[in-house]
Amino acid sequence: MKNIGILTSGGDAPGMNACIRAVVRSAIYNNMRVFGVEQGYNGLLNGKIKEMTLSSVADIIHRGGTILRTARCDEFATEEGLEKALNVLNVFDLDGLVILGGDGSFKGAKCLSDRGISTVCIPCTIDNDMGYTDYTIGFFTAVETVVDSISKIRDTSTSHGRANIVEVMGRNCGDIALYSGVAGGAESIIIPEVEVDIDNVCKRLIQGKNRGKLHSIIVLAEGVGNAYEVAKNIEEKTGTETRVTVLGHIQRGGTPSTFDRVMASKMGNKAVDLLLQGKTERAIGIRENEIVDFDLDEALSTERVFNNEMYEMAKVLSI
Ligand code: ATP
Repeated sequence: MKNIGILTSGGDAPGMNACIRAVVRSAIYNNMRVFGVEQGYNGLLNGKIKEMTLSSVADIIHRGGTILRTARCDEFATEEGLEKALNVLNVFDLDGLVILGGDGSFKGAKCLSDRGISTVCIPCTIDNDMGYTDYTIGFFTAVETVVDSISKIRDTSTSHGRANIVEVMGRNCGDIALYSGVAGGAESIIIPEVEVDIDNVCKRLIQGKNRGKLHSIIVLAEGVGNAYEVAKNIEEKTGTETRVTVLGHIQRGGTPSTFDRVMASKMGNKAVDLLLQGKTERAIGIRENEIVDFDLDEALSTERVFNNEMYEMAKVLSI
């Protein structure tokens, strides 16, 4: 294999740049040429591709976002779109592609590998919602951001004796809420994987108040529903003023954590290794702290297993 491409697709995640750097440097070290595709599959359709050098990835390991930019591209999922992409790959003489993104991006990679392009996928999404891997790049940075915000909100919660709902991202996955709730010492964690029991949330709040607790932090995952309705409900049932903070896109930005940078570096290096070995249709992940790779179909069809043990522990620690 001589020429490979790299693209970032779907939502951005902190650590993507560290991963791009690892792919580019590992490939050049192994005498390959690397081409950066801009704006995900969109750039592949439109030929927005440029050769990358050792210095084009200098000074990016600590930056959030992605220097290749990212996009969603509906056209790529059509037969005509795929044909356009294959033509562009042919024009640039690219025989392999490293794809950084979530499961939608992986499905796109599958379409390309079905048509003879060697593909390796790296899980990059703050949501941590992919079943085949314990961890996706960007997740722990997002959790750090939430924990930092919880600490600040806790100060004002204490000062005013209010309850505060902190709504976090994760789509239908409650991992950002669960991990940040545990690390931030939240009184309650509300996630899509467990049926909401508002009466229990209220009971905890009242018990805490009776013990002299001044603050109350409730972390709620966006997949659960409307945080403002939950707040109204809690306020009506407990008589405690309840405020909502929706953290939003702040969770997607910022300098990647050390853990995300190290994992992104390892996974990027592994992707080049796999291509050098002539492997294709692989999805890199982490299982029990080891870097592993799976068949793309297997990765895409592996159901997420919810960490119920951690959820139960969180309930014990927040009594
Ligand atoms: P995130 O988890 O951050 O949303 P993602 O990779 O799941 O990331 P999507 O928007 O689902 O994000 O997908 C990114 C792109 O992948 C789409 O815009 C499209 O170009 C391509 N894609 C998604 N699904 C398919 C599919 N079934 N077939 C071909 N291409 C697809």
